[in-house]
Order: sequence, then C-alpha cells, then structure tokens
Amino acid sequence: MRKFILFIFVFSFQFFPVHGQDTLATVTAEKGDGIYSLLRKHGVNPYEYYHEFVDINLDNLRDSVHLYEGRTYAIPKVPLDTIPVVDSIQRQAKEVKEVEAKTYDIFGEKHKTVLSKSERLKGAIYYLVSGHGGPDPGAMAVYAGKSISEDEYAYDITLRLAKELLAHGASVYIIIRDENDGIREERILEMDRDEVAYPDKVIPLNQRDRLQQRVDIVNGLYKQNKGAYQRLIVTHVDSRSVGQNIDVFFYHHEKSQNGKRLAESIHKTFEAKYKQYQPNRTYSGTFEDRTSLFLVKKTHPAMTFIEIGNIRNEKDQRRILDPDNRQALAKWISEGVILDFEER
Ligand SMILES: [Zn+2]
Repeated sequence: MRKFILFIFVFSFQFFPVHGQDTLATVTAEKGDGIYSLLRKHGVNPYEYYHEFVDINLDNLRDSVHLYEGRTYAIPKVPLDTIPVVDSIQRQAKEVKEVEAKTYDIFGEKHKTVLSKSERLKGAIYYLVSGHGGPDPGAMAVYAGKSISEDEYAYDITLRLAKELLAHGASVYIIIRDENDGIREERILEMDRDEVAYPDKVIPLNQRDRLQQRVDIVNGLYKQNKGAYQRLIVTHVDSRSVGQNIDVFFYHHEKSQNGKRLAESIHKTFEAKYKQYQPNRTYSGTFEDRTSLFLVKKTHPAMTFIEIGNIRNEKDQRRILDPDNRQALAKWISEGVILDFEER
C-alpha cells in the first residue's frame, strides 16, 4: 500500500444556464440506428448510459437491445456535474487542502484512492465476507435479458462498505476478493467465477467446504488479532423471507451480546434513514438471532449477517441494480458500524 499526500484544488465553476432538466429528451430512431449510435449522436456516452437507456425504454425494445425504426426513445439524463461548461475566466483556485490518502488496487482503477475522512474507527478491525463467489454465484435472476447473480452485487456493496470503513481509519480484511472487478458503476454486473478467499485461496465448489474455508480464515485472523475490537460482517442479497415486502434483515448469534448490539446499531441506522428519506414507506426489516446459519454459529468474532433484499424480487432489483443505491446501502451500514464502535 502506498501512502501519499493528495493535494485537492477546489475551484469555483461558473456554469452556463442549462435548460430542460426536468423532462427527458426524446428522439426518433432512424433507419440503421442502434442504441450506441443513438446515444453517441446525442452527446451521451453510450458506455456509461447504455443500461439506463435500456431501462427507461424497455417497452420499446426488441429483445431488450434493438430499436424500432420510427419509434420515439427517451435519452437518459446526464448529471450536470459531468458536463461542466466552464467559463475559464471565472475559474479561480479557492483553497488548497491537504488530505491524507491511500490506494487499494482491489477497489479498481477509478476507485482505488481512499481519502481519510476521520479516525473514528481507529483500532477497529473488520472482516467483510460477501456471500457466495468463485464457483457459486448464489441466487440468480434475469434482468433485461441478461443473467445476474447475487455474488456480484453482494461483492460490490461489500467493497463500497470496505472503502467507507477504511476512510474512517479502520483496518479491513476483504475475505472474498476479485482482483479485477473493483467497485462497479454499472447496473448489470457481469458474472464471473474468479473470486478467491483471503489472501488468494481457490474457493471450493462444495457448499460445506466453501463455508468452512471462510470460517477457518476468519477465525485464524481473529486469533492473530487477539485483544483488538474485531467484528465480522457477512452480506447476502437473497433473503429467505419469501413473500414479504423485503427490506434489510440483520442476524446475529443468540449468545453474543456484541453481535446483537452490532446488528441492532445497523438496524437503528436503517430505521432512521428510512424516516428521513422515505417517510411514506415503513421500514419492515428486522434483526434477530439466527444461530442456525453456519457462519453465524462457527465464526469467533462478534458478527452480523445482513440480507439486503432479494435479487429475484422485482422491487428489490430496482434498489440493488442502481449503483447509487448500492452506495447508499453501504454508507448506511457503515454509519451503523461506527455507531456501534463509538458506543462500545
Ligand atoms: Zn446468498
């Protein structure tokens, strides 16, 4: 890990007024148009907005990918700050800030720099396990004609959580790892099978061996770090609570007071966030003991087992496929984790 000092220059930008931000622009497909060419013609980066385009125009696409000549399509809204129209004369350096930063390749090229936000988690050690991985994709679903799998989404949320915890000074072990995925901004996360277990162990296919491998790794590290505040967070995207309006569930070991408190802290944070951001929706998540789960039973650190909705549930998909929502979920979990550490 390289440590360096990053200088951030904060400029003030003068934007030209931009109109028409409230409604989506529409366009009629001409002969020979494809999604990529159509987006490119309208100044929208097709590699970034392809999935969103498919999403908002799904009813008008043949096999989810082909345009119909003569039909009208909506063009995704590109956020303002990605197309700054800068009046260079107005641009001035306002302040020069010194921020400590470290890089971690596991987060991918675009996300590898972690800027220090605080030292609130100094001394805390976290083991993060995302569900499934390697030969086991976990729950699967089809979205816009493409197969999606639980392990990729659990992993993306786990990486985002890891980044948050690191930014607040924690030590973090990412137990299930994929060296070439990183944090991904797409809606459809491409499936692969090359995840390994910390540091670089091949993940076995057999379910029991697979879980035992995680237990052994976490318990081994726990022993090495004896005496420190250590917590384990396991994340899945395939709730067992079928038929409910699923939100987020937290499980812990019935005999672990610390595990119970961690689950409770994250649960409380979610309740508060729902009140703040979705006042018309009641939060239906729960936290309870679930000692029947192998990882809950066998691992030594106090732990919480999180189920973030269900990848097969259409409503949950909307939340899980949106990278901004994955970021929000990770952020909320991290806030609960901080609450737990500070109130210990
Ligand atoms: Zn799962």
